[in-house]
Amino acid sequence: MKTVSDTFGSLVFDDRVMRANLSAKVYASLRKTIDEGKELDIGVANAVAEAMKNWAVSKGATHFTHWFQPLTGITAEKHDGFIAPSPDGSVIMEFSGKELIKGEPDASSFPSGGLRATFEARGYTAWDPTSYAFIKGKTLCIPTAFCSYGGHALDKKTPLLRSMEALNKQALRILRLFGNQTAKRVVSSVGPEQEYFLITKEMYEARPDLRFTGRTLFGAKPPKGQELDDHYFGAIKPGVAAFMEDLNEELWKLGILAKTEHNEVAPAQHELAPIYSTTNVATDHNQLTMEIMQRVAAKHGLVCLLQEKPFAGVNGSGKHNNWSIATDEGQNLLSPGDTPYENAQFLLFLCAVIKAVDDYQDLLRISVATAGNDHRLGANEAPPAVISIFLGDELDAVLEAIENDTPYTGAEKTVMKLGVDVLPKFNRDTTDRNRTSPFAFTGNKFEFRMLGSSNSIACANIMLNSAVAESLKIYADRLESAKDFETALHDMIRKTIKDHRRIIFNGNGYDDAWIKEATEVRGLLNYRTTADCMPHLLDEKNVKMLTSLGVFTVDELKSRRDIMLENYCKTVQIEANTMISMVHKRIAPAITRFTADLAKQVSEKRAVIPELACAYESELITKLSALSDRIAAKTDELETVVLGLHEAEDVIEESALIRDTVLPKMSELRVPCDQAELLTGKDYWPFPTYGDILFSVK
Ligand code: ADP
Ligand code: MG
Repeated sequence: MKTVSDTFGSLVFDDRVMRANLSAKVYASLRKTIDEGKELDIGVANAVAEAMKNWAVSKGATHFTHWFQPLTGITAEKHDGFIAPSPDGSVIMEFSGKELIKGEPDASSFPSGGLRATFEARGYTAWDPTSYAFIKGKTLCIPTAFCSYGGHALDKKTPLLRSMEALNKQALRILRLFGNQTAKRVVSSVGPEQEYFLITKEMYEARPDLRFTGRTLFGAKPPKGQELDDHYFGAIKPGVAAFMEDLNEELWKLGILAKTEHNEVAPAQHELAPIYSTTNVATDHNQLTMEIMQRVAAKHGLVCLLQEKPFAGVNGSGKHNNWSIATDEGQNLLSPGDTPYENAQFLLFLCAVIKAVDDYQDLLRISVATAGNDHRLGANEAPPAVISIFLGDELDAVLEAIENDTPYTGAEKTVMKLGVDVLPKFNRDTTDRNRTSPFAFTGNKFEFRMLGSSNSIACANIMLNSAVAESLKIYADRLESAKDFETALHDMIRKTIKDHRRIIFNGNGYDDAWIKEATEVRGLLNYRTTADCMPHLLDEKNVKMLTSLGVFTVDELKSRRDIMLENYCKTVQIEANTMISMVHKRIAPAITRFTADLAKQVSEKRAVIPELACAYESELITKLSALSDRIAAKTDELETVVLGLHEAEDVIEESALIRDTVLPKMSELRVPCDQAELLTGKDYWPFPTYGDILFSVK
């Protein structure tokens, strides 16, 4: 029997394979490209391509593709055969360095938000050697960036790599100031915890809303939901266990370190967490994980739902982005050190994050904004749309002592004097895990919890890396020119704490009182919807920061805002149209049929005993008729506001109409439909109920 260590990474052209299949010279040169971003020359590329092809063919691959992440949110590929004709009539397998490095997919229908004029419609893909090539099915997949001929990024990988570079550059400046002359690179790492629902294919197929939109648009609350919390970390059902086993095996073959899995709070909800890796690789891996989850589910007769809020009244699905920064020498810069000096460095990086999150609350909110995730943020199980940071009581006490120049009496009861050389020693606070905070410090990393389950993690990490790079840049500018480093450092840490204390909140983030305090007293932002936040991507301070760090150009930002808003509008429009069609085609006829049958029964009974009251039937008929009328009226209203979208002048106006007219009308239409579901006979209702769906997997 094959063990995990035999199969782990067996479909990845990773370091082991490179070392075994490349000459020492080529290997060394490629490693320099991977580790230090050195340019690759074509001779090396040809040698790598040849080795890659031979390895892939030996694993049964016949095709290759540049694998990229356009702004649609999913991954794209265009397969080409390795096969080439040989003069003697046979075929040979070919793959050149040029084909490895650069591709030209006919990608004119990917969204570009006006970045690509038709004359340059094609765009090109460029190999990202920092993420390993892998085999999927019979295809060698080469992770690539996707750009227009004008050099504009048309994907999520390009700005992510740029943001990592910006962070690297600024963090190294800080490290040098602390006397570290040996670190060559600083990289951010991410471990994304992925939530999802599993339901049977049978249930999925029977619901047009799930098929067209990924979420249920109707559905009354089941008699049993998540009230008992009996699903959370509960025993895993055999059907789910078989799925997880298969999924792990597929992920391991691709070198994805899937490690923990458990049931979540809601029935049918589960979570998968990999071991963390470099942000770029973690992003590729998370995209692959989502794709493979769906494929493996299909093999088991199941469907994996990644939409953020598939069921109203039941917890939605998110993604926790565990994020840290470390040097190539393995020092985690968010880990409190053992010496006062290390602690001072830690506190500076901590302050950089605090400042970044406060200064760029809007960008973090924008980075997780989708129509689906709007249903989650602000509902009672997900972090609110207001961003705050949880630090834990001990770390908070340290900061307070620094801010106020007062003695710190922490876990070790040491009295703290001021001056960086005596910054306090404190224990990591990992005990109090505040689950309600959108941005929590968890000992040696931050956990950003606002991401939706279907989001690419690229967007959140682009903003996080960039905002922190900006804080570090400001710090480095000041410290490099300071006469007395230690005094300047101390003053800056103190000033950051003073200026940004409002973003720190250790209480219950789900509490309504907090939202009131956050917005009214502390002046924190509360962008409840995508339509509210997305236009702020182009606020002056945001454009200035992102362009000065070289992460985006102004044109790229404009195009991204437009594409994100278009996605929002299209998503909600499809949902509205699906609702309208479900009412006309299925719900209204079902109610009519049921009431007609009830009426028939009444007259049949009365034919036998004329004086029968038939109160039960009569009352039901009355109620359902009233609901039918209400449903008809609300459907009309929804149709009207959907038509009204045509009058919007631009996508910003359209998104506001979606928020103010379409979404409220959808909610209004849902109410009488769900009430009717509860009153209509089981055999008449055209769709499986929440109870059927949520408890469908055995
Ligand atoms: P939780 O209690 O939130 O489930 P875990 O300890 O299971 O926390 O870790 C969650 C994720 O955090 C995992 O993917 C793990 O690999 C990741 N993680 C751990 N340390 C780091 C780090 N230094 N940087 C980034 N991610 C990390
Ligand atoms: Mg977590």
